[in-house]
Amino acid sequence: MTKNIIFLLVYLITSLTINAQNTVIKAGHFFDARNGKMLDNQIIVIQDGKIKEVGTNPKFSETDSIIDLSNSWVLPGLMDCHVHVTANLEYKRRNTGTTNYVLESNALRAIRGSVVAKQFLDNGFTTIKEIGNDGNYATADIIKAIKYGWIKGPTIIYAGKIIAPFGGQSSDINPDNEGLWQFEYIDADTPDEIKKAVRKNIYYGATVIKMVTGDNGIYNTEDIKAAVDEAQKYGVKVTVHIVTEGLAATNVILGGAAAIEHGDNLNNEQLQLMKDKGIFLVGTDFSYDNNFAYGVGEKTAREWTNLLVDRLKRAYKIGTPMAFGTDIIIDLPELNRVQSGLKVLETWKAAEIPASYILQTMTINAAELLGIEKERGILEPTYYADIIAVKNNPLKDIESINTVHFVMKEGEIIRNDKK
Ligand SMILES: [Zn+2]
Repeated sequence: MTKNIIFLLVYLITSLTINAQNTVIKAGHFFDARNGKMLDNQIIVIQDGKIKEVGTNPKFSETDSIIDLSNSWVLPGLMDCHVHVTANLEYKRRNTGTTNYVLESNALRAIRGSVVAKQFLDNGFTTIKEIGNDGNYATADIIKAIKYGWIKGPTIIYAGKIIAPFGGQSSDINPDNEGLWQFEYIDADTPDEIKKAVRKNIYYGATVIKMVTGDNGIYNTEDIKAAVDEAQKYGVKVTVHIVTEGLAATNVILGGAAAIEHGDNLNNEQLQLMKDKGIFLVGTDFSYDNNFAYGVGEKTAREWTNLLVDRLKRAYKIGTPMAFGTDIIIDLPELNRVQSGLKVLETWKAAEIPASYILQTMTINAAELLGIEKERGILEPTYYADIIAVKNNPLKDIESINTVHFVMKEGEIIRNDKK
């Protein structure tokens, strides 16, 4: 009996070894994210979901599974560092998320989020940072469903509930409904309350901490530092939403946050301080169309975008580290969430940011901010095979990344359009 089992095991192991296949991608053009350069005719050998070798002449076997992308531009899977997969507002309706707390259950939010997360993966974003406003931890369940293999999705770095001064980002809620915002926010007004909120989020699955300041109250430097210190114990970073001018942003920078989300009104001194301290800007640079979608007039939409073009230009010139983020919760007519989000590239183009740098903000820079720079964001040996291909040269026109036709996630082919 035992002999038979041993024989069977030996047979299985031998046959597995003989049939062990690597996947080989022949890349006509290949983005070297580390150096921001396009290389020609690279071959990527993939084994067990990770990159084994890359170069012009690596060894591979005739029995390996070959993917011919010799007419394509091959890139590391893209990363969006500011998304809300479970949230949605209607085009030009001027409604707020608060109404949705009553109208949309947590289950509905999770179902929407799973659909939107798949849109990201299918359109080349193999990693996203889900930054809150996801009901009662709806995304935690999406992450579980992906892990269990029930659904396909990108790697999700997850914030849990947003930690904010009393009131979250709500306004005008009557006292009878006080606390309604706590569906998506944790009220935390002292360093101790902030530390407790950090622990609570981590308990429910957060891998990044998101705070809001400047909307309903301003955090002091000590408040930000309390979150940073507490999160650090668990290897988690803190990122902070700030759109207003002045003190609120300075407190975030001095408090040691890993990134500022939005930062629409950062001045040059603050951008320089961020550079000095290695704090990332996740700009969420809405195009005119993205702003107009909120139901504001044409003039306002244009003014908002102009502000972002100016801030992007200044940040790039000063050298503030940047990671790409979109922040879209309103889909544009005829476009899905990712296509709506990529409209922000119009703002990057208007600010004259080089396409190679924009690609770095979506790959190597994003990976560094997200703390996954040793496993994703570049295509080198030992890194996960998160690989995409587009039909046109993104260095000529960054909007070419709208033409994704191949997506591989950890060695698994998610999409390979045949022409
Ligand atoms: Zn946002």
